[in-house]
Amino acid sequence: MSIIKKMTDEYEDYLHDESRTGGGHADSISFPKSEEEVIAVMKECATSGTEVTVQGGRTGLTAAAVPCGGHLMNLSRMNNIGEISQTREKDEANGKAEPEFSIKTQPGVLLEELTKHLQTEKPGWFFAPDPTETTADTGGIIACNASGARTFRYGTVRDHVSAIRAVLADGEVLAMRRGENFAEGRTLELTSESGRHYCVKLPRYKMPDVTKNTSGYFVKDDMDAIDLFIGSNGTLGIVTEAELELTKKPKFDCGLMFFFSSEEKAIDFTAALRDSDIKPASIEYFDEGSLGILEERRKTDPDYSYIKEVPEGMRAAIFSELHENSEDGLYDKLEQASEMAEGCGGDADDIWVADTPGAMKNMIDFRHAVPSSVNALIDERKKEHPAIAKLGTDMSVPGSRLKDVFKMYRTGLAEQGFESATWGHIGNGHVHVNILPRDEEEFAREHELQAEWAREIVEMGGAVSAEHGVGKNKAFMLKIMYGEDGIEQMRQLKKTLDPLQLLCPGNLFDKE
Ligand SMILES: Cc1cc2nc3c(=O)[nH]c(=O)nc-3n(C[C@H](O)[C@H](O)[C@H](O)COP(=O)(O)OP(=O)(O)OC[C@H]3O[C@@H](n4cnc5c(N)ncnc54)[C@H](O)[C@@H]3O)c2cc1C
Repeated sequence: MSIIKKMTDEYEDYLHDESRTGGGHADSISFPKSEEEVIAVMKECATSGTEVTVQGGRTGLTAAAVPCGGHLMNLSRMNNIGEISQTREKDEANGKAEPEFSIKTQPGVLLEELTKHLQTEKPGWFFAPDPTETTADTGGIIACNASGARTFRYGTVRDHVSAIRAVLADGEVLAMRRGENFAEGRTLELTSESGRHYCVKLPRYKMPDVTKNTSGYFVKDDMDAIDLFIGSNGTLGIVTEAELELTKKPKFDCGLMFFFSSEEKAIDFTAALRDSDIKPASIEYFDEGSLGILEERRKTDPDYSYIKEVPEGMRAAIFSELHENSEDGLYDKLEQASEMAEGCGGDADDIWVADTPGAMKNMIDFRHAVPSSVNALIDERKKEHPAIAKLGTDMSVPGSRLKDVFKMYRTGLAEQGFESATWGHIGNGHVHVNILPRDEEEFAREHELQAEWAREIVEMGGAVSAEHGVGKNKAFMLKIMYGEDGIEQMRQLKKTLDPLQLLCPGNLFDKE
């Protein structure tokens, strides 16, 4: 019996994701619990020519999981965690062999469940990329190639996925393990488990040379087949199982918050820390707008009274986590980083150090309080101007262009007279500039500024989407990045695997 149900008001929530984009609609919905059920739904939809939008945790910020008609497949009930297995012995420099481990999961396993499971089943090990939103699921973070603060040291989700199983639009299954199937130049041969063959011509564009990039399909000469599916925004196949690599936790860690009287000094410190041999786990930024909004909230909202007061006169902050395997090593690096901050004009008397679990929690809470204060501010403004929303950038540039990109943002914001709050992963050349519209007129002007920034980012050798993916809302930027020709090559690639263009229509590019 089919698990496809007619769409009713009961499922209204599933028409939205965290982008809060309106207009989502679907005719039917399903909640498969197994790969067999995903295959059955896909075969049924392929027979009737019905488009299918795939959903994970719906925490996406680009409307990628918002359906535009057809069938809605929600994977939240495929939430079993599989076995942890030893994958290989790693030769350390001293000749000692170290085991490595990976964990199998179904796509609907939430990151918070994965973390909890590892704490009990494999203490001392963690899933290193650590995207901030813990109600995203493993299928969703693979489809977006998500990343997190610790990507500075540990890489993106892509770097930690060793195998996936994916159901294609025709119901065929591809089982891909990293290191087993490579393209020849830009031609990739794929064979499904039942023996169906697909010869995929990969687009010819060159991806930007940045650590964080989720703008369109990942393609390069002789690439690993698995990488094409990671970050493909649900447009090529439905991930039904993944094997994620685990990382050994450092024996010692601490969090540091450095304050600066200007943005320029904070950028200088970022460059020094980024290029040093300290190798922190993260380098995160908060600008004057973010600190100001947080401070205002701290003073006026009792829910935020636990937040520490920002030292007077400070206009920028850098948060960095250190991960070390010896206590002496940790404190050496802490000292080095503090001296470096002082050398860049930082406030030497007021560096916050979190070297106990309680203090670390306070510091992480401080970090989380910035976006939530900004969201609270926008929610208040929405009462009078319901059509406005916070618009955040997600662009990255090579480290050498950090000063240029800040100049670009500051000039654009000043010219338009926009209020903003900027924070994020500055160590990877990637900050989120959040424009905070005061009314509908300002909101309408933001889109053009984003397009202008996208054009300049591309000229700087950057990516228009660094971690959130493209979905539907950033498709116009993908076109700016790769041009009509690049988009057409992506469309042709998709048509090889999904000739009727059924999977996640509207994501990355419009249907032909
Ligand atoms: C407060 C907040 C903080 C955030 N912080 C971060 C952050 O630090 N780093 C970051 O990278 N992102 C962040 N995000 C964005 C979001 O969490 C990520 O984009 C995440 O990867 C989305 O996962 P999801 O499970 O919610 O996917 P969804 O939103 O449900 O879907 C996203 C895309 O994945 C596809 N998809 C989902 N499951 C599958 C599957 N099994 N097979 C194939 N395709 C699938 C969907 O079709 C869609 O295209 C944040 C979001 C919020 C709201």
